[in-house]
Amino acid sequence: MNTNSSGMMALAPNTSNKRETVCIFGTGDFGRALGHKMIQCGYPVVYGSRSTQISNLIPKDAEVLSHAEAAQKAAIIIIAIQRQHYNFLTPLAEILHGKVVVDISNNLKLNQYPESNAEYLAQLLPGTRVVKAFNTVSAWALQSGALDASRQVFVCGDDMDAKQMVMNIVRALGLTPLDQGSLLAAQEIENYPLQLFPMWKFPVFLSLGLTVFFFFYCLALDVIYTYVYENKNFSFFIAITIPNRICPVMALILLGLVYLPGVLAAIIQLYRGTKYHRFPDWLDKWMLCRKQLGLIALAFASLHAVFTLASPLRSFVKWRTGKAIISQALNNKTEPLDTTSAWLSDSYLALGILGFFFFVLVGITSLPSVSNSVNWREFRFVQSKLGYLTLILCTAHTLVYGGKWFLSPSAYRWYLPNIYMLSLVVPCAVLVVKFVLIFPCVDKPLTQIRQGWERNPKHSE
Ligand code: NAP
Repeated sequence: MNTNSSGMMALAPNTSNKRETVCIFGTGDFGRALGHKMIQCGYPVVYGSRSTQISNLIPKDAEVLSHAEAAQKAAIIIIAIQRQHYNFLTPLAEILHGKVVVDISNNLKLNQYPESNAEYLAQLLPGTRVVKAFNTVSAWALQSGALDASRQVFVCGDDMDAKQMVMNIVRALGLTPLDQGSLLAAQEIENYPLQLFPMWKFPVFLSLGLTVFFFFYCLALDVIYTYVYENKNFSFFIAITIPNRICPVMALILLGLVYLPGVLAAIIQLYRGTKYHRFPDWLDKWMLCRKQLGLIALAFASLHAVFTLASPLRSFVKWRTGKAIISQALNNKTEPLDTTSAWLSDSYLALGILGFFFFVLVGITSLPSVSNSVNWREFRFVQSKLGYLTLILCTAHTLVYGGKWFLSPSAYRWYLPNIYMLSLVVPCAVLVVKFVLIFPCVDKPLTQIRQGWERNPKHSE
């Protein structure tokens, strides 16, 4: 390894095959797992520890020295120690001067400290080049090799060369470094592992809430009502009939909710006459979880398809079909083919199949592995144009099926509308507003606003 005139390690990237020694402070779970992986990848590892006694837990080819001795052996020092113990580093400031110090720490709570751990480390050791990395990878994943879900390593730091050196190590370990910019990004990177499916929370809770609501709605109208007024026991509807009513309704409502924030945003921009005002917080958050809403909608649509395909196997359906045939046989009369009904039922099925096909296409394109292989224009085309086509087809599918209920008084049990009518409110509202928005007299100013034009520019001369 090269040393410069002041006896300090040269930080130039190593072009030979031999890897540079890496120093890890702390022989705890993460320090050991990272050291083990680094040794596997050809890096000489030296540990800085409070105790220099070799334990059999420590990777066998690693050296264990005092913090000061270990730091002198490497240009990169990884601090695998909790933030609350960072004070012990202050006396080492001189030895660490000019070195790359990697902060890998996490906290127990979101925004636990006023500044990020990495910024705190940079304040404690002002002469060092602090880089934040590795905090999103777990010791267990490093050791067991189960890195599939956590291959991405967020890296940030103020010194480009230092960051580059750390990113080279990340790559050498078979992980993917993602440059997040300066050390200011550290707080966000530290909060990341503490978040539990942040974008899924709202869509999941909303779906659960709506599913429970529609379940009791159907239970009341399809099971309790028929029991009370017709003395029929349809409690078995709970197994397939009710789920197969809820699934398409949920799929359609959630699909409508994917496109509703877009039209609301357009209305807000038209009203304000500018795009340079922030949307309300709730709308921002809603827009960010549209993909998750869409994927949950697709899951409901898939369940609906499976339930529908399984319908002919149901004994209730077999009994009803048999009953109709026997009644025709007993009356010695064949019902004539009603071509209007045949048209309606075929159109209903065709619209459903096409709607489901495009639904799957839009859903697949939103997956990162697929969206990464299309350009921005193609992605927008699929998500917006084909997405709206899906919404139109699925709304038409529901209208053809449930349209007859609108005028039928028997559909209003206990004066409540049928579940199909409820499912049409959001998608129809979205489609009507979208239809208005594509009129040239509305579309033209909206396009201008989105290109930066302002009705009342603030900075006009
Ligand atoms: P750990 O098993 O508790 O190890 C921490 C190490 O810090 C100890 O083994 C000890 O090493 C050293 N240490 C403890 N008290 C000290 C003190 N007063 N002064 C100096 N050194 C002290 O913790 P860990 O799980 O390895 O986590 C270490 C850091 O990695 C934490 O900041 C954590 O947030 C981060 N991290 C952990 C994981 C993970 O999966 N575990 C994942 C990402 C990030 P010596 O006995 O050798 O001195």
